[in-house]
Amino acid sequence: MKEKGILFILSGPSGVGKGTVRKSLFEKDTNLKYSISMTTRKMREGEKDGIDYFFRTHEEFEKMIDENKLLEHANFVGNYYGTPREYVERTLEDGYDVFLEIEVQGAMQVKENFPAGVFIFLIPPSLEELKNRIMLRGTETSDLIRDRLNEAKKEIEMMDAYDYIVVNDDVDHAVTKVEAIVKSEHCKRERI
Ligand code: 5GP
Repeated sequence: MKEKGILFILSGPSGVGKGTVRKSLFEKDTNLKYSISMTTRKMREGEKDGIDYFFRTHEEFEKMIDENKLLEHANFVGNYYGTPREYVERTLEDGYDVFLEIEVQGAMQVKENFPAGVFIFLIPPSLEELKNRIMLRGTETSDLIRDRLNEAKKEIEMMDAYDYIVVNDDVDHAVTKVEAIVKSEHCKRERI
């Protein structure tokens, strides 16, 4: 029988650099498959539908919730975000590892359904540094920056529910650590 893949969940406060770490990880030759999320938030400059997210209306998103087609979903600073269920389940069954990059409320829902998932929490070196990063991104108004920072403080309190903590002091360091986690989780499950 084919081995099932492992579900990895990378979580952490908005602005900590999850996206950058994930993209850099995927540039390296790994067998991970990225689960593209669905969201109702507006597309940012440079983003593409079906690559960065599946951008959907509130109505379309709520229909997905009603039809139980999302593995988890959360309302984050006024918008919905969620993980389409079918892709994750099928890809794991096919024997590939699946990688989710999601916020904390969603990660806790995944934990209920996939207790065997590997939960990784990316943290900033400090809250001050996180604020700088959110401001540097320049895509948010000052109200949104404040909301995201408040959300981040709440999210950081959930750190203990995770299997691994990775400090994102430097992208390459963080990616190396996530790669090591992926390898070690495979070693845990290795059998002849
Ligand atoms: P952003 O608007 O900056 O792209 O994302 C906002 C937050 O939503 C980030 O913390 C991001 O990781 C999270 N997020 C992205 N996709 C999903 C998802 O499918 N589910 C959940 N729960 N959070 C998500």
